[in-house]
Amino acid sequence: MNIPLVNLKRQSDRLRDEIHASLDRVIDSGQFIMGDEEKTFEKEIASFVGTTYGIGVGNGTDALIMALRALNIGPGDEVITSPFTFFASAESISSVGATPVFVDISPDTYCMDVDMLYDAITPRTKAIIPVHIFGHMVDMKKLMEIAKARNLAVIEDACQAIGATQDCMRAGAIGDAGCFSFFPTKNLGGMGDGGMVVTNRKDMDDAVRMFRVHGSRRKYHNECIGYNSRLDELQAAILRVKLRYLSGWEKKRRYRARIYNEELKNLPIKLPIELDEYRHVYHLYVIGCDERDGLMSYLKDKGIGCGVYYPLPLHLLPVYRNLGYGIGRLKNAEGAAITTLAIPLCPELNDLEQEYVIDSIKEFYGVK
Ligand SMILES: *Cc1c(COP(=O)(O)O)cnc(C)c1O
Repeated sequence: MNIPLVNLKRQSDRLRDEIHASLDRVIDSGQFIMGDEEKTFEKEIASFVGTTYGIGVGNGTDALIMALRALNIGPGDEVITSPFTFFASAESISSVGATPVFVDISPDTYCMDVDMLYDAITPRTKAIIPVHIFGHMVDMKKLMEIAKARNLAVIEDACQAIGATQDCMRAGAIGDAGCFSFFPTKNLGGMGDGGMVVTNRKDMDDAVRMFRVHGSRRKYHNECIGYNSRLDELQAAILRVKLRYLSGWEKKRRYRARIYNEELKNLPIKLPIELDEYRHVYHLYVIGCDERDGLMSYLKDKGIGCGVYYPLPLHLLPVYRNLGYGIGRLKNAEGAAITTLAIPLCPELNDLEQEYVIDSIKEFYGVK
């Protein structure tokens, strides 16, 4: 049996007619950049997340970059983030000329260990980018207390966590700004690139809106060096169709995760954790085990798509060698990089396929 990690084809097939109709609407409108679809989608996402503003941008990376720029962060500033995330979380910091500072993760949720924040804060620290990795949120309650006490801005990297909650507060709505990606494989994914900044701050809304059109509020009256980074009408129209399904998809993800949790619990595998008062949206279902590489090639030989997120913690990437972290500094991130594996989970995964994945993992361990 062939089971991809994420089955986008199946999702597209089911939505094909609805998406075609929405694309026709855009084609007929003749408006392809910054039109009604994007404006409406911005309002829909802001209201879904629970913020006042939403600004559509070209991708999640640009969302982070423009949120940092809106906070005036640049050369000489330090921004704290996680070493166990997609490169863009730190790349955005470097892109604006600031320096990323890495705080190790908790081995339970793979999110930044907020208790270790104090040691990383220096007089140059300007902001924190907590990353809600794999769909589980960072402890934002504790993080916001520290940020407020130290007068630090907070930009949530919620690219993997749309819909996730802590104490009923949604990912992206808690910090000064939240950033989303609509990359095709994300929980809410377009058919191309897309992203959004959400915020309750009028000044940040205003700044990001200016940055995304070449630093201008009024056409041809450019005020600063900005970007060309908008969410186009075709993507916004597709995403509006998909947003209507997001809550249903989340339930399916959580249902599949419960089945894995139950079926794999007696194996020598570390299962994903959902802390009390949190809602995990399982962007990825990530297991941990010492035999990671062996298990991965065994599953791949059986046609099961799985992947390593992430094989190198960011502080060990050659591009960040100059930051001076060596091996052994951020032990939990380094451990996770060699033991974790994402196995197939998406709303379209069916019983038969999931059973096959479970049986194959049990087989690898010689069970049953
Ligand atoms: C996907 C992702 C991004 C970047 O999003 P793009 O739309 O691909 O630029 C940033 N951070 C995290 C954690 C992501 O998963």
